[in-house]
Amino acid sequence: MDNYLYKGLRKRLVNQIIKQGISDKKVLDAIEKVPRHLFMESSFSVFAYKNKAFPIGSGQTISQPYTVAFQTEILEVEVGDKILEIGTGSGYQTAILSEMGAKVFTLERYKNLYLKAKNLLTKLGYKANLFYKDGTLGMPNYAPFDKILVTAGAKNIPKYFLEQLKIGGKLVIPVGDNNLQIMTRISKISKNKLEKQEYGNFIFVPLLKGIV
Ligand code: SAH
Repeated sequence: MDNYLYKGLRKRLVNQIIKQGISDKKVLDAIEKVPRHLFMESSFSVFAYKNKAFPIGSGQTISQPYTVAFQTEILEVEVGDKILEIGTGSGYQTAILSEMGAKVFTLERYKNLYLKAKNLLTKLGYKANLFYKDGTLGMPNYAPFDKILVTAGAKNIPKYFLEQLKIGGKLVIPVGDNNLQIMTRISKISKNKLEKQEYGNFIFVPLLKGIV
């Protein structure tokens, strides 16, 4: 459950993230609101508001809060956005996007993580759409999306993501090898015109093919 101690720790985490350069008020409000400790094993609860990634089982991690905030900020989320997230993991990022008023479709390749996240998000009252599915193909039957957010490291940018993005839409994806990725944002200006921006280095678990 949530309590004043956790609320206080979240406030402190938000102040830390502000110092690291995050300024979108909607992102900061969402981080302050979502009880991150519930997205982790209870033995890690006391560490939940440290600005760190943590294991969530199946060799996967819940991303560092700063990383979640950074990806969300450059995605420029608007209320009502239809967003495709690749890599549900713990469901924490899904909760942040839902808290900001987005309609989220999120895909996870590990069945146990999918089930756990689905259970928790339902319990917390978030109405996101979760799927047990290989995300490398995107979600053609629900496309196009205003935004696509990839929360695993990709060797390259799958063409499906660009095809499934609306004109005026944005794709945020960490691109690189297993040890290091460059945070990359692609804006779809028109059908054939893309604009690419790169933002610093991050480390994610890899984007892998197939379901487990
Ligand atoms: N957004 C998550 C981060 C989890 S780490 C969170 O807030 O907790 C990235 C996740 O991407 C892992 O759970 C991993 O299993 C998943 N993943 C990797 N490749 C995938 C793919 N092809 N399709 C769907 N999920 C994938």
